[in-house]
Amino acid sequence: MILKRVEHKGSAFHFFENSALILGYSEIDAEVDHINEYFIAEKTIQLDQVHGDRIFFTDEVRGYPEGDGLILSEKNVLAVIRTADCVPLFFHSKNGREAGVIHVGWRGLHSKIGINLLNILKQKGTDTNNLFFHTGPAIEGKCYTVQQDVVDKFKDFSFSNKIFAKTPKGYDMDVTKGVELCLIEQGIPANNITHSGICTFCNKNFPSYRRGDLEGRIFNFILKK
Ligand SMILES: [Zn+2]
Repeated sequence: MILKRVEHKGSAFHFFENSALILGYSEIDAEVDHINEYFIAEKTIQLDQVHGDRIFFTDEVRGYPEGDGLILSEKNVLAVIRTADCVPLFFHSKNGREAGVIHVGWRGLHSKIGINLLNILKQKGTDTNNLFFHTGPAIEGKCYTVQQDVVDKFKDFSFSNKIFAKTPKGYDMDVTKGVELCLIEQGIPANNITHSGICTFCNKNFPSYRRGDLEGRIFNFILKK
């Protein structure tokens, strides 16, 4: 997936666009209103993110409910998930009828928000094996150390031995890899999953909580035309 970088009123962001949809993510210190304005979106929808597994269709959102995933049920609406090291997971079908973005940190991976997303889409009649997935900027495994307590929580996960690597300081955890393996286990073809390859900790154009930016957030956005 090729993204192009633009600046609008001092906000920098990267986006992919085709005839059906736009998706992308902002750099540090961007304002979500500038993204909305650039794409002439009718409204922006955000959630009170709580590292859970709850997902909303955009037309169900009233106010600012607790949740960590948005599925676009309307056109020209900018669905936004904020992250600062966690994985933003975008999805869309080839024709753009299905599209959305969810927030997956280790807690979201543990609460199986990805599987919840697939189940919701299947209930709506979507053939999830034909969806495309993209992970945006997130902290990479070698920059993200966790301790034994997190490793223990994943002991019943089939892919736990593939996402943790023992180091002198604890364990490196690759949440993006966990997201990918979870999807593959659910039948998503590996070729349908792509990654930005951007580490928020290493790349200072993006905010990173672990690097000490406690307030900065990436706005991960998706819009159906
Ligand atoms: Zn890194």
